[in-house]
Amino acid sequence: MNFMNVKMNLKTLTSDRLLSETKMIVNEERRITAKLIEHLTEINQRLLFLKLGYSSLFEFVTKELGLSESAAQRRIQAMRLMQDLPDTRQAYENGSLSLSNAAKLQSHFQASKKSGVAKTIDEKKEIAKSAENKSQSECDQMLFKLSPELPAPEKVRILSPTLRELKFSISEELFKKIERLRELLSHAHPHATLAELMELLVTSHLTKLEKTKGLQAQRVQQCDESSNAGKMGENHRTPHVEGGKADRSNLVHAAAKSLPVGIRVALPTQIKQQVWSKADGRCEYEYQGRRCSSRYQLEIDHQHPLALGGSNELSNLRLACKNHNGFAAIQALGAAKMSSFANFVNPKSSSARK
Ligand SMILES: [Zn+2]
Repeated sequence: MNFMNVKMNLKTLTSDRLLSETKMIVNEERRITAKLIEHLTEINQRLLFLKLGYSSLFEFVTKELGLSESAAQRRIQAMRLMQDLPDTRQAYENGSLSLSNAAKLQSHFQASKKSGVAKTIDEKKEIAKSAENKSQSECDQMLFKLSPELPAPEKVRILSPTLRELKFSISEELFKKIERLRELLSHAHPHATLAELMELLVTSHLTKLEKTKGLQAQRVQQCDESSNAGKMGENHRTPHVEGGKADRSNLVHAAAKSLPVGIRVALPTQIKQQVWSKADGRCEYEYQGRRCSSRYQLEIDHQHPLALGGSNELSNLRLACKNHNGFAAIQALGAAKMSSFANFVNPKSSSARK
């Protein structure tokens, strides 16, 4: 029965008919979700989301297809499980394995691999079989018993427009370090809460990293200009000097001009900072006016590849997330590398972490 085209007056149905049709709709929903997962697999293999300017399949599914983050996460994790264990698709379609449990299994296998005890295919098959016909909490308990040492999945919950609740587990060793930090900071920040300590640490680390990357270019320019000019002057031709003060853009331009063409070299810090500053610390890949703008795993990309004689000059450099940097290389160098690249494309490289 095609439920999409049949407009039923539910009030006229007998209760038996209402229940049987509801069950048929549930089966239809599972079949359609399996079909959607199949399409996502193909989109993923073609790296279509990268072409469209999304940094990850997760971002494509949430922003282009409009699914919620949790719905996207479950479908993508189930997709990866079905790629690894094709039998789980059948189990999902016949209703013995729920989508949530399929996603939990995949997250568990990924966490096991990350902790250095990757499951074999046979172990995965056995665990997946055991997860059939289990509720979510039964599945959670089963996975916990299998690997009690694995950290629980991290969770972010929106409490209000300005508040988030984070949930994650940490080692006893890290907890002791936090306690020690709280003691050492007790004069400056008495009775600091965990959230306050985290804010201090994150702000301090961000300030250092952003300065390194050139996102605080103005401040870097004011503080470091004279010392940078001195360092650059040692290895490069004398830069343009105006009013007794070195012009930063000319310094960078001079440094870039002196770099070899077609050869990978360590780019001078000033050039890297210029690239980061120009891109405002975001991926610059663009497709039909849609910019990726990801801040995750950013790299400096040679728009005209070095392998094809591209230069190390500023005009040839841009900031790209790791996935778009790889995608651009495939587009420039050929599709032969596509399959191997698809294997390392980060499935969810957006800032949203689950
Ligand atoms: Zn990108």
